[in-house]
Parts: sequence; C-alpha cells; structure tokens
Amino acid sequence: MKCSSCQFENPPSARFCGQCGRELEAEDKGLFTWLTTSAQPGLAGKAIIALKLIGAFYVSMMLLGVLLYGF
Ligand SMILES: [Zn+2]
Repeated sequence: MKCSSCQFENPPSARFCGQCGRELEAEDKGLFTWLTTSAQPGLAGKAIIALKLIGAFYVSMMLLGVLLYGF
C-alpha cells in the first residue's frame, strides 16, 4: 500500500507508513467496505453482512415509501 503523503510503498497489512508514520488510508470502496467489514470471520461475519444488507434494503424501502406516499 502506497503512502499518500510520501509515496513510500508499505506492506499491504501496514496501518501506518514505515517512512513518515502517517496513517495509511484503506482503499476507498465505500459501501462495499461498509458491508464487508466485520470483526468476526466465517459464518458470523457473513451473518453480519446479511443483516447490514437487509438493514440497507429496509432503509431504502422506507425512504422510497416516504417519497411515494409522503409519510
Ligand atoms: Zn509516508
């Protein structure tokens, strides 16, 4: 992972730049990162992702309802 400050190439697992110490920013994947970020690996992580997807779907349906029916 390349440091955005000094362009030093750090190992992919590094959280901080080995040269200037700046915190390395994860590649911006936005919603995808939010959906797949989970502390627990395996089935529990997949369950959390599923819950997040359901939550996002529910919220968007609610917003759509507000837009369509005005309540
Ligand atoms: Zn750096």
